Amino acid sequence: MKLIGIGRNYIEHAKELNNAVPSEPVIFLMPDTSLLRNDEDFYIPDFTNEVHHELEIVVRINKIGKNINSKFAHRYYEEIGVGIDFTARDLQAKLKSKGLPWSNAKGFDKASPISRTFINKSEFTSVDDIDFSLLKNGEIVQKGNTKDMIFKIDELIEHISKYYTLKIGDLIFTGTPAGVSKVEIGDRLEAFIGEKKMLTCDIK
Ligand code: ZN
Repeated sequence: MKLIGIGRNYIEHAKELNNAVPSEPVIFLMPDTSLLRNDEDFYIPDFTNEVHHELEIVVRINKIGKNINSKFAHRYYEEIGVGIDFTARDLQAKLKSKGLPWSNAKGFDKASPISRTFINKSEFTSVDDIDFSLLKNGEIVQKGNTKDMIFKIDELIEHISKYYTLKIGDLIFTGTPAGVSKVEIGDRLEAFIGEKKMLTCDIK
């Protein structure tokens, strides 16, 4: 099983990090060891002084596929969840400035909490109109809607599956809206889809 990350998929977030708005999806991979499940605590690793939360809608693939046309992409997933793509921003900035891959800044152990439960997509009017939000210590820090994605879920699946065979259980982290910020020891993050609480993560 693999985790597929998408960078810069919301215009306001690309801007807040002074990144160009991409003309095609920015794809990166993370190993399965970067998953953090069951609302477990997140421990800030010692190789970074600046871990940012990135709240993201996560799509779970339920059918094997390759070269999937976006028209048929909806057949390859049933469930939607949320995740946090923790990012060692200081390390990522260093790697980016040298033109190096940023894997270590995103795919390190337990960097990717995901919700315990996923929601069947039939419960949404459209997968391209899902509200989601993140509270940090009780205050809203990130608020997004999938309609603001530059590349929608079905387009992402088309693009990703040109390069990588999608397998059952693969998770696509679909990019973060604006509002990323540094986490500190003692912070509590709570992620919601609509009004439904999906994920809690305490920072240690
Ligand atoms: Zn991300």
